[in-house]
Amino acid sequence: MSLRTLDELGDPAGARVFVRVDFNVPLEHGEVADDFRIRAALPTLRELLDRDAALVLASHLGRPKGEVVDELRLAPVGDRLSELIERDVQAVSDVVGEEATALCSHLGSGEIALLENLRFDPREETNDPAFAQELSTFADTYVDDAFGAAHRAHASVVALPERFERRAGGRLLQREVEVLSKLLHEPDEPYVAVLGGAKVSDKLGVIDGLIERVDALLIGGAMAFTFLAADGVDVGRSLVEEDRFEDVRRARKLADERGVVLLLPEDVVAAPEASLDAKRETVRVEAIPRPLMGLDIGPRTVEEFARTLADAKTILWNGPMGVFELEPFSAGTRGVAHAIAGTGAFTVAGGGDSLAAIRTFGLEDGFDHLSTGGGASLEFLEGKALPGIEVLER
Ligand code: ADP
Ligand code: MG
Repeated sequence: MSLRTLDELGDPAGARVFVRVDFNVPLEHGEVADDFRIRAALPTLRELLDRDAALVLASHLGRPKGEVVDELRLAPVGDRLSELIERDVQAVSDVVGEEATALCSHLGSGEIALLENLRFDPREETNDPAFAQELSTFADTYVDDAFGAAHRAHASVVALPERFERRAGGRLLQREVEVLSKLLHEPDEPYVAVLGGAKVSDKLGVIDGLIERVDALLIGGAMAFTFLAADGVDVGRSLVEEDRFEDVRRARKLADERGVVLLLPEDVVAAPEASLDAKRETVRVEAIPRPLMGLDIGPRTVEEFARTLADAKTILWNGPMGVFELEPFSAGTRGVAHAIAGTGAFTVAGGGDSLAAIRTFGLEDGFDHLSTGGGASLEFLEGKALPGIEVLER
C-alpha cells in the first residue's frame, strides 16, 4: 500500500484543509436518521483540529442530479456533526458561490465550514477541471476521507486533489485501504466470503474477483435464486434475474475449476409476499410452492453456513440473507451475523443494508471492520483501481 497519509502532510497548524468527507447519510423529516458515516469521519477531523488546522468540509448527499434540491441540503448534517464534535459548524448554502468564498477566506484555526451538497453543481459528477479549480481556492491542503466515493471519478475526489501538492488520505480512508488490501492480497486462510442481497447483477464483478481468492463462497439472499434457477431448480415466485443465468453458470464453473466451495441455500422461508403478516413456511429449496417466494434462508442453511464459517481465519460479508427489515424474515441474517461475530476470524462487513442489520442486532463489536463504502469496497475487492485512491498514492 502506498497511500499518502496524514503522517506525511507536515504540520497542519494554520493550514486550511479541504476535507472530502462522506456524509451521504439517510435523512428523515429533515434530520439525520443514521449518523454512522458522520461518526466514522470524526478521528480525522479531530486529529486535524487538535493540530490547529481550519477545516473546509465537503460531501455529496443523495442524487440531486446537478440541481439544488432543498430536501438534500447539508444543514441537518452540519447540526449533527456540531453535536458530535462539540464545536460550531458553519454550513453555507452554496458550493462555490459568494457565501462559500467569503466564509472560507476568513476561516481561522479550529473553525469548521461545511460546503453545500457537492452534487448541486453538475460539474462535480463530470470531474470538471474548472469546478475543481474553484474549489481549490478554499484551501491549501487536501485530505480525502470519503472512501464511499473513491470509486467515482468525480471532481472533488480526482480533479481537485490533483491540484494540491499537500494531499493525503484521512484515517478512515487509510484504514479501509489497509483492511481491504489485506483481504485482496494476503488474507489468512481459510478465507470465506458470504454474499447476499437483492440483486446478483450488482455483485457479479465481485463474485468473479472473490472466486480467485476465497476458499469458500456462501450465497444467500435473493441472489441465490438466480443461481438455483439457472441450475433448473423451480424457485416459485422468488426474485430471479434470468438475463444473468449465463453469468452465474460461468461463475459456478470457475468456482469448480478453482476448487472453491460454493454453497447455496438448502432450505428457505417462503411466503406469498414480503409483509409482516404473510403466512410463512420453511421448505426445502427444491420444494418452494409455486405461488410463494423465498424471503430468507432457512435454519438448516444457517447451520451449514455456520459450520463453514467456524473454520475460517478471514471472513468477508456483504449482503443480507433475507428480507431482514421484516422480523419474520430476519432469522437467517441474524443467524449468519451471530455465526460470523462468534468466530475468532478476522471479520469484515460491507454494504449499507448489511451494516444496518449488524447495528439492529447490536453486533458491531463482533466485527473487526465495518466498511463505510458499499460500491467502493466491492470494486476494491474485485481488484479494480479506484480513481480516488490512485490520486493519493505516492
Ligand atoms: P447491501 O446494502 O448490504 O449491499 P443489498 O443492497 O445488495 O445489500 O441488498 C439488500 C436488500 O436485499 C435488502 O433490502 C433485503 O430486503 C433484500 N433481500 C435479501 N434477500 C431477499 C430475498 N430473498 N427476496 C427479496 N429481497 C431480499
Ligand atoms: Mg443496499
